[in-house]
Amino acid sequence: MKKVNNIAVLTSGGDAPGMNAAVRAVVRTGIYHQLNVYGVMYGYRGMLKNEILPMESKSVANIIQRGGTILKTARCKEFYEPAGRKKAYENLKKHNIDGLVVIGGDGSFKGAQKFSEEFDIPCIGLPGTIDKDIAGTDFTIGFDTAVNTAIEAIDKIRDTADAHDRLFIIEVMGRDAGYIALHSGIATGAEHIMMPEHKSDVDDIIADLQANERRRKLVNLIVVAEGHETGGANGVAEMIKHQLPNADTRVCILGHIQRGGSPTCQDRILASRMGYAAVNALLEGTHNVMVGIVNDRIHYTPLDHACKAKQEMDPEWVKMCKILAS
Ligand code: ADP
Repeated sequence: MKKVNNIAVLTSGGDAPGMNAAVRAVVRTGIYHQLNVYGVMYGYRGMLKNEILPMESKSVANIIQRGGTILKTARCKEFYEPAGRKKAYENLKKHNIDGLVVIGGDGSFKGAQKFSEEFDIPCIGLPGTIDKDIAGTDFTIGFDTAVNTAIEAIDKIRDTADAHDRLFIIEVMGRDAGYIALHSGIATGAEHIMMPEHKSDVDDIIADLQANERRRKLVNLIVVAEGHETGGANGVAEMIKHQLPNADTRVCILGHIQRGGSPTCQDRILASRMGYAAVNALLEGTHNVMVGIVNDRIHYTPLDHACKAKQEMDPEWVKMCKILAS
């Protein structure tokens, strides 16, 4: 039974490759079901400023392969306040919008949760974040692309590290979550991986580097997440230089390249499946949930659970890293 007629889609918070593929899926699935579909520019800010545009099938042509987001993204302070959310609601109502799809991270879901509690517009969240740190889904839109970008860069760094017998400390994104560090570190054979979720014993790392030197293993890569307690790659380098002043050490911070670029096959498919499922959820009356993928099946998690929980880091993976890099 059709319970909605006019839906809107927006991208909010940190951008992630694959957001465009998700927007495309929402728009085309909505149009297939004869809904009017609107695109909101700049996330919640566009709701407040009434930057709400009708979308057609051709509005999303030629974007599945593009990084960034054609709807743009932003952070919006006013949306934290009830008055801001009321203004946003009034603007949506001007277009008779009765369903909202929010593509973003856990902050965006917190906003959507509050909005859906206060007003009669159901919200569906799609996890668009390179960090993969949202409960209720095995993967998030953008993670696979970001990791592959990091791998490509780290492979190149290994070439130059090998030529000079150097120790490289490479910083990848992840303020609270170490998934990019963990996955890119394993895939590039890093000697050490430092994640915010795990206390790293720098003395152990130093001892290991010294042991490697004794056995003439002279190329070492340390992949560190930006949010690691040592202060990221620069902090780690300082500690190592202090204890091993003769080590030929370099730092490379990968930075925002990890957010850009054409999404991988996995991210395009994930985003397409999630966008399609979001519209189906609105039509079926499954409201105020985040669409996730668990064991390769669509899985709905109430928005308030998607907000709070973090995924657990698998201790077996952490153990495996140590063994494979020894
Ligand atoms: P992300 O979605 O990538 O985690 P943010 O945490 O910056 O990014 O959240 C994006 C936007 O969502 C914020 O700028 C704000 O407008 C809205 N938002 C975040 N948290 C809340 C909250 N607790 N209440 C209301 N709105 C929120």
